[in-house]
Amino acid sequence: MSTPLALTDVTVITADRDGTVLPGTTVLVDSTGTIEHVGPAEQVQVPTGYRRIDSAGRFLLPGLINAHAHLFSDGKPLPPVLLSERAEKAVTVFFRSPPGKRYLKARTKKAVLTQLKTGVTTIRSLGDAGYEGVAVAGEIDAGDYLGPRLLVSGPLLAVSGGHGVPQIALVSDNPWDARRNVRINLRHGVSAIKISATGGVTDARTVGEAGRPQMTEEEMRAICAEAHNAGVLVAAHAQSKEGILAALRAGVDTIEHGATLTGEIIDLFHTNPLALHGRSALVPTLQACLPLVHLDPEVTGINAVNRANAEIVLEEMLAGLRTAVENDVTIGMGTDSALTFVTHYNTWRELDHLVRHGGLSPAHAVHLATQANAELLGLRQVTGAVEEGLSADLLLTDSNPLEDLRTLSSPRAVVARGQLVDDLVVETFDEIDAALEQI
Ligand SMILES: [Zn+2]
Repeated sequence: MSTPLALTDVTVITADRDGTVLPGTTVLVDSTGTIEHVGPAEQVQVPTGYRRIDSAGRFLLPGLINAHAHLFSDGKPLPPVLLSERAEKAVTVFFRSPPGKRYLKARTKKAVLTQLKTGVTTIRSLGDAGYEGVAVAGEIDAGDYLGPRLLVSGPLLAVSGGHGVPQIALVSDNPWDARRNVRINLRHGVSAIKISATGGVTDARTVGEAGRPQMTEEEMRAICAEAHNAGVLVAAHAQSKEGILAALRAGVDTIEHGATLTGEIIDLFHTNPLALHGRSALVPTLQACLPLVHLDPEVTGINAVNRANAEIVLEEMLAGLRTAVENDVTIGMGTDSALTFVTHYNTWRELDHLVRHGGLSPAHAVHLATQANAELLGLRQVTGAVEEGLSADLLLTDSNPLEDLRTLSSPRAVVARGQLVDDLVVETFDEIDAALEQI
C-alpha cells in the first residue's frame, strides 16, 4: 500500500501513434498503485488523503519500457586489455565466483535504478552473466526497495563459439541440449529467453561474422517450444536476413537488432504460427551501433574489425527498420544498454535516434517505447499507457516530449507502480555524453 496520488491539471501524452494529448487532465492513483481515474481537471475532485502534485504546465506520459537491456556494465568502453581471449576467460571465471556474483548483483541493482530514475519503469534484460537479474527482480518484488518491473533472461543461449560465449551464455549444439538450457534458466526463475541466432558485433573476429547464422532453425524451434510451454517469450539476436528467417520460422517472438526484411520475413512477422502470440516483432537497437560507426575509434576504443562489422550491421538494421515501418510490422524500442557508449541514463537517445536516423515522428518513437513495447512483451493489460486500471507507471516532464525528446532525460517526477521515486540523481559520464552529442 502506498500514499494515493493526484497529478492535477497536467497535459497527458497518451502515447498513441498519432501523438494525441489530453490537456487540463487530472490523474488519480489509488493506494494499490493503480491508475484510478483520468479526467478533465475541472470535473475531478481530489479525495482527501491524496498527495497532490500540482502539475500545471507539465506533461505526463507512461513510464518508458526498455525492451532490450543488459545490466552487467555501465556503458563505459572496456579497456582493450580485457578484449583478448585470455582476458575473456578470466572475466568469465570471475563472474562465476562468489565475489564476482556479488559484484554483478551490485552493478545490476545500480543499472536498473539508474534506468528507473530516468523514467524507465519496465526493463527486459536480454543476456546476463548469471542470475543476478533474477535476484534483483526478487528483491524488488519482495518490496526491499522501489525498482522497475523486470523481465530477465539470465544467460543467453548460444552454440559453441557463438555470440556471447563464454561470458554471458549457456552453450548447446543440438536441440535437446538447447531444451535443457531453457529448462535450467526457467528453473532459476527467468522471465525471458534470449538466443544468439547469428554472430554479433562485440565478439566477431572477422568482418562479416556479425550476421552469420549460428543456431539452426531446429535448435531454435526446440528452444521456442520449451519456453512457450512455460508462457515465456523468446528473443533472438539476429543481424542478417538468413538469421531472422530461421528464427521466425522457429517461432521466435522478438527479433533483436534486425536486418533487411524480405517479403517472406514480413509475412512471418505479421502471422507466425509458432510464436507465443501468433505474431512476432522487431526491436532495433540503434544506440548499440551508431556511436561505433559515427565516432572516432580512438574515442570508442573499438578495433577495425568491430568497426567494420558495426557499419554493416547499422546499415542493415536501418534498412530493416524502414521496411518494417512501411509494412506495419510491430516494432519495439530497446537500447542495448551496458554495451560500449550505451549508458543506463540515455534511454531518450534511442528515441532521438529513431527520429533522426529511422525517420519516425517523435510521437511514433514515444509510442514504441511505451504502448508498443507493452504490447509486444505481453504487458498491455498491465502498463504502457495512462489509462484507468493500469499500473501507475508514469513520467512527468517539464516540457513536451513530442517537441523535445531530451526532456525525457531529466524528468520532474517518476512514479513506479504508484510510488514516487524520491531521488532522481544519477551518475553520468561527461566524456561519453560529449561524444554522443557529436553524432
Ligand atoms: Zn543486446
